[in-house]
Amino acid sequence: MIRIPYPDILSRIQQKTGMTAEQVEARINSKLEQLSGLVSKEGAANIVASELGIRLLDQTGKIKDIYTGMRGIENAAKVIEAYEVREFARADGTMSKVASMLIGDETGTIRVVCWGQIADTIRTLKPDTTIRIVGAYCRDNNGRKELHCNEQTKIQLNPPGVIVGEIQRKVSSQRKSMKELTEQDDNVEVLGTVVQVFDLKFYPVCPQCNKRVTEENGTFTCAEHNVVSPEHNTILNIVLDDGTDNMRCVFFKNQAMKLLNCGNEQLQTFRLNPATFEDVKTRLLGEQYKLIGRVKKNDYFQRLEIVVQLVFPASAKEELARLETQSSNSTSGPVYTPPTPTTLPRTNVSEPTIEPIEERIQ
Ligand SMILES: [Zn+2]
Repeated sequence: MIRIPYPDILSRIQQKTGMTAEQVEARINSKLEQLSGLVSKEGAANIVASELGIRLLDQTGKIKDIYTGMRGIENAAKVIEAYEVREFARADGTMSKVASMLIGDETGTIRVVCWGQIADTIRTLKPDTTIRIVGAYCRDNNGRKELHCNEQTKIQLNPPGVIVGEIQRKVSSQRKSMKELTEQDDNVEVLGTVVQVFDLKFYPVCPQCNKRVTEENGTFTCAEHNVVSPEHNTILNIVLDDGTDNMRCVFFKNQAMKLLNCGNEQLQTFRLNPATFEDVKTRLLGEQYKLIGRVKKNDYFQRLEIVVQLVFPASAKEELARLETQSSNSTSGPVYTPPTPTTLPRTNVSEPTIEPIEERIQ
């Protein structure tokens, strides 16, 4: 089934009908009531769209219009980065290979994973090469879309007549206060102060598919790749407070390294010698950060959490500029005013560049 996120359906209905977000949501909510909770919010939104005669899916071939569950996808894009090919043993003992790359077009970027013979194509690709992918399918990997290619997929290099414009690499996120956040918020930006830092958690993963492995008597087994020698993934949890509320923020490995301003080697030192992390915890308290991520409901604890995708030290300059823009086009209704950072960004933290989030296979 093709899954279109709720915010995308909402904005598409707005775009096609000229209705405001409130009007569309009111209509969706009344549909929900009418069906007395028999459908999800996404389901109700889908029904409203079809009642209004709005097609939610456009086979434009553009990255922004690719959704989890789509098959037979065609897309023309440029290679941003191609990673090395890896061999692995299948469950039946035969060897196969996998390679991944990051591609982009005028509407966004997406990770491409190639399985089997087609992985060799990636070996030949250089950044900036224009490619056309025909017959890929889209899968979800921890809330991110990935394009998967198999033996049936074709990748054409420099297809004649195909021009890909400038790659849209910027993540356009919306600043919100924590008390406004809902489960539907994807690509949301918050600014706040670190008020609590938890111990780092590590768990063994398969080096090929990055999935959790099980351990028995020192032997690690991946459901897909049998016995493997595991790598250790990291999770860091902190609590961020923005004055309106506080919320637990979850950092996976790459984002944890951004927050801690360290590399994987340092992370592994913390794993082997957890006491060395205590100083770092103290140092982080009171620091201010801008985080971009998606909101996820932790069903076990019945609370919302932010899964962090990008980390930036708070910038006093940027926040002041934001306040000025807000007051100059003063709108009616309450405007959320973020806390102004009282400290300048720490100089030892370099401003991170926007880049793809966690690499599953690299
Ligand atoms: Zn595996």
